[in-house]
Formats: sequence, C-alpha cells, structure tokens
Amino acid sequence: MKSLQYQKDSSSQGNIIEEQGRYVEIAKEFRFEAAHLLPKVAIDHKCRRLHGHSFRFEVCLGGNISSETGWIRDFADIQKVVEPIIFQHLDHYYLNDVFGLENPTSENLAVWLWEQVKGDLPELKQITVFETCTSRCVYRGDK
Ligand SMILES: [Zn+2]
Repeated sequence: MKSLQYQKDSSSQGNIIEEQGRYVEIAKEFRFEAAHLLPKVAIDHKCRRLHGHSFRFEVCLGGNISSETGWIRDFADIQKVVEPIIFQHLDHYYLNDVFGLENPTSENLAVWLWEQVKGDLPELKQITVFETCTSRCVYRGDK
C-alpha cells in the first residue's frame, strides 16, 4: 500500500494542511429546459427551426483532498454559484436572446457556462453539456 505523504503548514505549528498526491475530481449535474434555434446552419436543417431541449450539464472541479475537510469543495458551493445562473438566464428562456448565446450550440453553451462560473469556482476543470441523451460537448478551457 502506498504510504501517505503530507505537506506541513510552515506558517504555524506544523499542522497537516493538504494531502499530497490525492488529486480528485468532483462533478455536479444541473438541468434546465430551454428553447433555441441555430441561426448558422442551412435553412433546411432541422436545428434551424425553433425547438426545445431538456438540457443537462455537468460542472467538474479538480484538486487535492484537504486533510482538514476531506474534500476539495462542498457540492453546495457549486450549487450556490450555478443555480442563480440557471434561473436568471437559462431555464425556460429562449437561449438566442441571452447575451453571448446568440448562436446557442452546445459548444458555445459550454464555453458560456465556463465563463460564468470560473471566477467563483477556480478549481473548474471541465464543463459538459448534454443537449440530448446521446449528444454532448466537453470543454476544458482554452488550450
Ligand atoms: Zn437544439
């Protein structure tokens, strides 16, 4: 079994503050209903017509487990950041009217969500948008 290695807190009495090498990722899933159309596809493409989706998306954070708390972030913190964005901009809205989502593809929605939450969740690693049960887009920040 691999032995545990700890980083000591140099600022105080040597308290253990962070377990080394215990990188984990956590994810929380959210849902909303919204309408959209894709204005840049061919005029006869089905996505050019106004339609709706039961969107799902996942916010994934990564970091080392804190030995103090045993987690990298409270799931409730993610909820506090993301839910107001859903209620104010996404749920039961016409996405094309949302600033920054004039062409609301899954790709653009994933980037838009990243930009909305990154400031409050600096451990953000990935946004996954599920437009349908079988179609999804993953964004991990610009490379
Ligand atoms: Zn669609």
